[in-house]
Amino acid sequence: MGILLALDQGTTSSRAIVFDRFGKILGSAQREFRQSFPMPGWVEHDPEEIWRTQFEVVREALKNASLEASQVVALGITNQRETTVVWDRKTGVPVSPAIVWQDRRTSERCDTLRLEGFEETVTQKTGLTLDPYFCATKVEWILNQVPDARSKAENGDLLFGTVDTWLIWKLTGGAVHATDITNASRTLLWNLKEGRWDDELLERFKIPISMMPEVKPSCSHFGETQKELFGSPVIIGGVAGDQQAALFGQNCSRPGLAKNTYGTGCFALMNIGSEAVMSKSRLLTTAACAEQGQNAFALEGSVFCGGSAVQWLRDGLGIINSAAEIEQLALSVEDTGGVYVVPAFTGLGAPHWDSHARGTIVGITRGTTKAHLARATLEGIAFQVMDVLKAMEMDMGEPLCELRVDGGASKNDLLMQMQADFLGTPVVRSKMTEATALGAAFLAGLTSHVWTDTRELDEIYQVDRVFEPTESGDSILDRKHQWTQALQRAGRWD
Ligand code: ADP
Repeated sequence: MGILLALDQGTTSSRAIVFDRFGKILGSAQREFRQSFPMPGWVEHDPEEIWRTQFEVVREALKNASLEASQVVALGITNQRETTVVWDRKTGVPVSPAIVWQDRRTSERCDTLRLEGFEETVTQKTGLTLDPYFCATKVEWILNQVPDARSKAENGDLLFGTVDTWLIWKLTGGAVHATDITNASRTLLWNLKEGRWDDELLERFKIPISMMPEVKPSCSHFGETQKELFGSPVIIGGVAGDQQAALFGQNCSRPGLAKNTYGTGCFALMNIGSEAVMSKSRLLTTAACAEQGQNAFALEGSVFCGGSAVQWLRDGLGIINSAAEIEQLALSVEDTGGVYVVPAFTGLGAPHWDSHARGTIVGITRGTTKAHLARATLEGIAFQVMDVLKAMEMDMGEPLCELRVDGGASKNDLLMQMQADFLGTPVVRSKMTEATALGAAFLAGLTSHVWTDTRELDEIYQVDRVFEPTESGDSILDRKHQWTQALQRAGRWD
């Protein structure tokens, strides 16, 4: 039957989904876990709790699907990226809580390295920026701050891993210490073009190479789960970070195909093929998933505040009762009446990178109503995503042929239509809303020959709706120009 299991280890919950070979969901389970904020700007998870919840949901999902582990061909793992775990090689016990991607404790360290002129080296080698978001300064912090950690690491007694690596280690009973290329490419320690851990970067962050996991393609045999865990061993056949898994799950496995996920924030990734093109437009270059024997890269840009702007209308202003209500309210007016909302509540991400920008509303007149604000907020989300995708087009030197979309806010038809109009590109929404988990299942299924190649996966992809660009001409150009003006007003505020 080609049963595949996806382990989707996210920032707030662990999930497991059982798929058949047609991409149909046969069973699933989800469990939230604790978020710790011990100091301002710090965000931690308990690695043992991550493991426990992930283990439990796998058993529950199989039960919900009325299936045994022995019927599963292979499992795939997709995970919150950049979150950093360090544990003892002999005991398997983590030496500290996991430092989550959102954690800003190493901001000053990054500032210092930047002042020392190190950013250029980092960007050239890794395709990333020198930011606390990525793993390197987090590992360095653990080695410097946790008692005895540095000496243990130097003796070869500690292991580092992103969450996928930690789960692989636990699933295989400590037999395998490995990660995949997409997760490796988020550590700030991976030389993207040369495809290896970078000695100069490891040296600069004083991280012994003995801590680093073996790096495999996303589509490969990572090991087998211990028999005792689920009753029968299951092959671990695919691993990828969540955004790259979503890109693959949206079948963007050929160059030029792009996806955007409209969640709390928005994450846009474009497959750029087998060459790691470094961005000239302040986007990240990162490894992407590919079928066996191939490699792929992607350009990535994130918008910090996407769907959370809608939450602000609901919770901060109280002008809607639910996120879904925004659509009706916005449709009750023909246009925004000249209002522009720049939802830069926590600064602006790619391609502007202005951490001092703040949320701004311009163009308010005596006639402005909450409906205009609602409509301008949706436009603000679509304009931000447009800026990221236009930067990608500039880097690639060719226009995007279509944008595939997923995430909670992609259910909003008006928002999707605005996106198509602003981009001048069709926006394609698939019926499958679980692109991330499906991507992990695709990887595992390709490794275990449930499918022979990515062309077969195209047959699974089912379009829910295509939003064709309808508006063109001066009006759109004028509005884009005004959006740029609004952005300038939001910039460098504090
Ligand atoms: P995450 O995975 O980041 O938690 P989801 O993919 O679950 O996000 O999407 C939730 C986000 O989408 C919320 O910020 C919510 O405000 C927004 N959202 C949900 N439904 C709609 C809608 N119909 N229109 C606009 N935004 C929506």
